[in-house]
Amino acid sequence: MRMILAAFALLAANQLMAAPPEGIPRDLARRRAEEISDLRYHLRFTLIPHGSSASGHEDLQFRASSSEVILIDFREGSVSNLTVNGVAVPAKIDNGHIALPAYAIHPGENHLSVDFDAPVAAAGKAITRFEDKDDSTEYLYTLFVPMDAEMAFPCFDQPDLKGRFRLELTAPENWTAISNTAIESQSQAGPGRRLTVFSESRPISTYLFAFAAGPFRKVHETPSLPGLYVRQSKFKKGEEEAPEVQQIAAQGIDYLSRFFAEPFPFPKYDMVLVPGFAYGGMEHAGATFLREESVLFRVAPTHSDHLNRDILVLHELTHQWFGDFTTMRWFDDLWLKEGFAQYMAYQALTSIKPNENIWKRFYQTIKPAAYSIDSTKGTTPIYQDIANLKDAKSAYGAIVYSKAPGVLKQLAFVLGEDHFRDGLRLYLADHAYANAEWSDLVQAFERVSGKPLRDWAAMWIRHRGMPQVDVSWSCDAQNRIDHVSLTQQDALGEGGVWPVGMQILLAYPDRDAIRLRAELNSQRAELEQAIAKPCPQYVFLNDQDYAYGRFLLDDRSRQAIMGQLGGISDVFERTLLWGSLWDSVREAELAPRHFLELALRLLPAETDESLAQSLIGHVATGLHRYVKETVRAEMVPRVEMVASDQMLHSPNQDLRIIWFRGFRAIAESEQGRAELKNLLAGKLAVPSVELRPLDRWTIITALIALNDPDAEAAFAAEQKRDNTGDGQKYAYVAGAARPERISKQRYFSDYLNVSSRPEDWIEQSLGSFNYWNQSQLTLPFLKPALEALPQIKRERKIFFLLGWLNAFIGGQHSAEAQAPVHAFLRTETLDKDLKLKILEVSDELDRTVKIRQRYP
Ligand SMILES: [Zn+2]
Repeated sequence: MRMILAAFALLAANQLMAAPPEGIPRDLARRRAEEISDLRYHLRFTLIPHGSSASGHEDLQFRASSSEVILIDFREGSVSNLTVNGVAVPAKIDNGHIALPAYAIHPGENHLSVDFDAPVAAAGKAITRFEDKDDSTEYLYTLFVPMDAEMAFPCFDQPDLKGRFRLELTAPENWTAISNTAIESQSQAGPGRRLTVFSESRPISTYLFAFAAGPFRKVHETPSLPGLYVRQSKFKKGEEEAPEVQQIAAQGIDYLSRFFAEPFPFPKYDMVLVPGFAYGGMEHAGATFLREESVLFRVAPTHSDHLNRDILVLHELTHQWFGDFTTMRWFDDLWLKEGFAQYMAYQALTSIKPNENIWKRFYQTIKPAAYSIDSTKGTTPIYQDIANLKDAKSAYGAIVYSKAPGVLKQLAFVLGEDHFRDGLRLYLADHAYANAEWSDLVQAFERVSGKPLRDWAAMWIRHRGMPQVDVSWSCDAQNRIDHVSLTQQDALGEGGVWPVGMQILLAYPDRDAIRLRAELNSQRAELEQAIAKPCPQYVFLNDQDYAYGRFLLDDRSRQAIMGQLGGISDVFERTLLWGSLWDSVREAELAPRHFLELALRLLPAETDESLAQSLIGHVATGLHRYVKETVRAEMVPRVEMVASDQMLHSPNQDLRIIWFRGFRAIAESEQGRAELKNLLAGKLAVPSVELRPLDRWTIITALIALNDPDAEAAFAAEQKRDNTGDGQKYAYVAGAARPERISKQRYFSDYLNVSSRPEDWIEQSLGSFNYWNQSQLTLPFLKPALEALPQIKRERKIFFLLGWLNAFIGGQHSAEAQAPVHAFLRTETLDKDLKLKILEVSDELDRTVKIRQRYP
């Protein structure tokens, strides 16, 4: 950019030394996007085994519209030999930027040349090293989103300054290098080293440029299928799983290119499995990185685990169009890419696997996370104001990943599938290899549908929160409906009124259900179409889950449903009704004990694996959080008996696995722990299910957390049995559950002070550290955990902070624990985005306390 801040122009030249802004403020980005264009990065990196940095050289060409000072971004590394258009200029890094002086910049074409060094570490840097303890090899990979490309090389690190990248990597000759484009050439580069040159990319944002290098191997090289790379020690496992993953990606490419009417936008597509990767996946253009653990299952997998993996693959694939080809201008529109990737992943899988009831899974996986943040004071609109890119990490969370796709599902329902699809096609075609904003998308939908969406967008995109929609109804003496009214209220009590499109179910014991389409655009409306219909047994407002909002049951319907839930044969409907009952528990309108008793009664006959899984999850939450200890003590042996029986005798393999996991989560009595130990010792087996190492380690973790007298012996035996790289990580995770203050202290200090500890080790151990039965022991760590938030925001990858908060606040259930949280929220210097995250997470603690008080 030029130093455009108006005041700047008036400053004397020596005052230009004033520090440039921290991070990338939005106005800096806007101005740079006006000033700079036609970027071409030519990057050379040299990767050395065990090196604490990577050295490189950069040639950058760009056009400037005038000759003024331009800030280029670079932090944490070092630069030398900086020239602009052949003129040597000071290579001084100041607050994450290098100022390119006006005297060196030409209006028109410019050429920058610079040598640089970028840090490489196990955690906390843009280039991460993974050490494979199984075969003593190492792997390096980049992860730049949202603004860490500038930690790897000098660049204009904002999404709307797309560049063409040309990469040359020098690395040990037995390493394989993967990047966004195909390899153009390879040659020897000194003893034991090889130079790999990649072809130039199409225009992409800096956060989408990536490379990975190490002794990766490509599995099943089939030209018609996307490439899949795996580290060499997992090659065999990779070969087993690859066909399914490559197949779904190929089917996804086929489906999405037809749906978007736009061929796959990049010259090739590879997937690279990265162990301990910070996210499920990252959609680098042409080279998606996937968390190895999400693809090569570490536990005995269920059918749902396979489908979730399909969703992950399709999510990242959708991004190649939505995010990579057409990119949000700024991270305040993060939802544009994440919301669509989620929604389209389910849409694509529905088409690829039509018999899987995929929208039921969408409801189970996506909606609870959305509703549970959107009814808290920590929620934000889908569009999130990001004044500085350094705060962009905070935009990631359930609002963009769960609410946005939920809102899109409702929009597709309101517009009709064809208009929805045509709007997307228009939007993509208009912004090919460029950037766009949410208003461009809304305009595209308006153009194809002719339906004005201004009010819709104002409430669903720019306004925070969600509606709670209630129904009241009655029937006359002839058993006909004589009145149905719908009312909505703002779940947060802030007075919002949303346009809600929904399908309403009238259910009958002895005849087919009646389904009515309705749009509620005001606070209250009468449902005229329902008048004179036969009197239903119950009414449910969100049939097929088209609408977004909270839909609790009226008393009469709830009574009817609780009496016959097991008999409802439509599994999607059954799932939605269970969900609504659980919402009533969380709203402190239904005693958790009543829910638990009902679940315990009906669960043994539940044959749907994913519904059983979510119900078992609710039972565990109810027992561990919502009911008091005497109730838990009374119920646990009964739950253990049901779980153990199902785990051993259910005729369905997926259900046996689900119940095994449930049993392990719930078992705490001496009898229950004895069974866990028998499973470890092989004296007891889940029929036809081979426990994998992580299944075993999770048992050990539970035994340690429950202070079982044999836990330490089992731990030591497991360490001997499984000393793999994974095993060492799981041992670390299990150790965090030790119910001793001194051990907790050691771990806590490790979390904040040991930079060599891989981030995923810490992330995965947070739950064991805060095991549900250890809240007294972990309460003293709550305040220091909150105080560490600014450091975590700065140093850790995107999702870590939320995981940290969920673990430390989520480990607490008492009014006593509310005090330090509420006190911390009053800290004056607390960043606004951190405050919102705490409000989001502490809502569950407040609810727990409320439920416990209301149902003692
Ligand atoms: Zn995504």
